[in-house]
Amino acid sequence: MTDPQLSPSANPVLAEWRARFGLPAFAEVKPEHFRPAFDAAMAENRAEIDAIAADKAPPTFDNTIGALERSGQDLTRVSSLFFALGGADTNDALEAVEREVSPLLARHSNALYLNRPLFARIADLWRRRASFGLSPEQARVLDRYHTRFVRAGAALEKPAQDRLAAINERLASLGTQFGQNVLADEKSYSLVLEEGDLAGLPEFARASARAAAQERGHPGKYAFTLGRSSVEAFLQFSSRRDLREKLFQAWIKRGESGAATDNRAVVAEIVALRAERAKLLGFATFADYRLDDQMAKTPAAARGLLENVWTRARAKAGAERDALQAMVAEEGGNFALAPWDWRYYAEKLRKARYDLDETEIKPYFQLDRLIEAAFDTAGRLFGLAFTPADIPLYHPDARAWEVKDASGRHVGLFIGDYFARASKHSGAWMTSLRDQEKLMGDIRPVILNICNFSKPAAGEPALLSFDDARTLFHEFGHALHGLLSDVTYPLLAGTSVPSDFVELPSQLYEHWLETPEILETYARHARTGQPMPKALLDRLLATRTFNQGFATVEFTACALLDLDIHSLPDSKGLDVGEFEREGLARIHMPAEIVMRHRLPHFQHLFSGGGYAAGYYSYMWSEVLDADAFEAFRETGDVFDPATAKRLRDFIYSAGNLRDPAEAYKAFRGRLPTVDALLKKRGLADADAE
Ligand SMILES: [Zn+2]
Repeated sequence: MTDPQLSPSANPVLAEWRARFGLPAFAEVKPEHFRPAFDAAMAENRAEIDAIAADKAPPTFDNTIGALERSGQDLTRVSSLFFALGGADTNDALEAVEREVSPLLARHSNALYLNRPLFARIADLWRRRASFGLSPEQARVLDRYHTRFVRAGAALEKPAQDRLAAINERLASLGTQFGQNVLADEKSYSLVLEEGDLAGLPEFARASARAAAQERGHPGKYAFTLGRSSVEAFLQFSSRRDLREKLFQAWIKRGESGAATDNRAVVAEIVALRAERAKLLGFATFADYRLDDQMAKTPAAARGLLENVWTRARAKAGAERDALQAMVAEEGGNFALAPWDWRYYAEKLRKARYDLDETEIKPYFQLDRLIEAAFDTAGRLFGLAFTPADIPLYHPDARAWEVKDASGRHVGLFIGDYFARASKHSGAWMTSLRDQEKLMGDIRPVILNICNFSKPAAGEPALLSFDDARTLFHEFGHALHGLLSDVTYPLLAGTSVPSDFVELPSQLYEHWLETPEILETYARHARTGQPMPKALLDRLLATRTFNQGFATVEFTACALLDLDIHSLPDSKGLDVGEFEREGLARIHMPAEIVMRHRLPHFQHLFSGGGYAAGYYSYMWSEVLDADAFEAFRETGDVFDPATAKRLRDFIYSAGNLRDPAEAYKAFRGRLPTVDALLKKRGLADADAE
């Protein structure tokens, strides 16, 4: 008890965060601070919850819902810091803490959502909700609490609740294990090459491979890792078919090593537990349970969209394959196009057809100019301004900007952490250290974007592919959803919306990157500073529908298999490899294309449950974003102020104030149609078989 590390005021995680912008003192935070901080914060929150549940006074909105919304502040703070670091800058000690606390957090959440006296108060308020003059936002919060408790099993009998609690704890551990297994496979592999093995690779790919080799203890050599930017660049440019195959095989076998990090049994257990939980809650399958609280409402609605797109995409991908195979033949190649050939020949075909290759474009996409472009877009649409803030963060590569609105008022803090490193999970995401709310004062958000762009060698500018640039805009769209949030209650803030709606602000934002207004200003050559020549820009934009059959197939196969595996009423004895093979055969997956994420490393689905039976969300949201951008195009001004104001009022700042369909109608005046999506992907003319 005398250990100063354990006293709350001496623990930098738990103590009030006093650094500028209300940040923690990152330099003092050590992995060993988290377990005691979690223990103290969970104990405090349990006491708060027990007090609310045991209140002798009859339930009122304030003594129940208001009190719940004010509770758990330390736990929220500790968790947000822990998971931000756990994703962006982890190490063995943090991973060990994560394995320890994830079941404890699940148990804690069970104690809240399976608390019968507490639920009795919420249910009583909900039944009488029309009688006490709640504001629309209060009514929404009450309704969300009621729904969440019911969906968590609060209304079930005790034995069913006990089983649910056990399932939730086990799922939490399995989710952690799944993510750590993938990270371990990614960390332990690199394709280390000599100069002579690099045929076809452009300078940017060589430079980042040199840096990666240096970081991994192979100075003077070239290392290609399993990060998407690294693999895709290699597959696109390396003329060494044998090495492309080698790297590709390692990439798609993540989580399927047959060794300690193999995820197939983990997946089978997760799927079985989810199905059992759904049954306990009165749903036929996990997909039915999951979709019931989404904008799509039913698996059939989600599947309907995917199947509409799938047949068209497969037809287009077939035509693309024929063109690539013809190219192989022209070169005198005597082999059938394989998955590790697709990107290589697609890049060649793109060059031949549009006189455009990635190396010609890349010098025009400098990371720093694209960050400016994302900021400028937010300025034109929403009047935001971004100023660099020189403050200590958790890693030297992370950078911060203070965000202000048109009247100079502080909006929040934005942290961008863009480069890949061994301590970072793969992928790109937005997270927060603090969310906006007004219940406990004018609380301003701290929002992070984490990406995995290849880090340039010292002194070189960081260059992005067009896809990377799109990712940057995408994550920044999520960041704006957090930064512009304008709600009173924390439960409704920012991105806490259904997952088939949450990709609307991010995917919509990508459209502005592709406008001449932004590209003409910010796509400037890294060495000469010259803007991209008009002809090159036109050719770049003309390629937008190029290879979209492939991209759509790669994605949609994942979304369909996600729904399939989560629609199993009973998954006893599930063989994940067999299931994947059969599922792909059933939808006639083209042999030359592999799922964008195979099941053993499909983190969206199994590393936590964020997108389980929800991967379709990206396409559902794309229907929305394509249709939403049309609203700007129809005015003739992609920054039209009146449309931007409606977008801000009903989407970016509105959190979960309204049902998603209502929010969309308030912005657009109607529900979306699929037409704009099909046009955007070049699928409008493709035959639906
Ligand atoms: Zn996203």
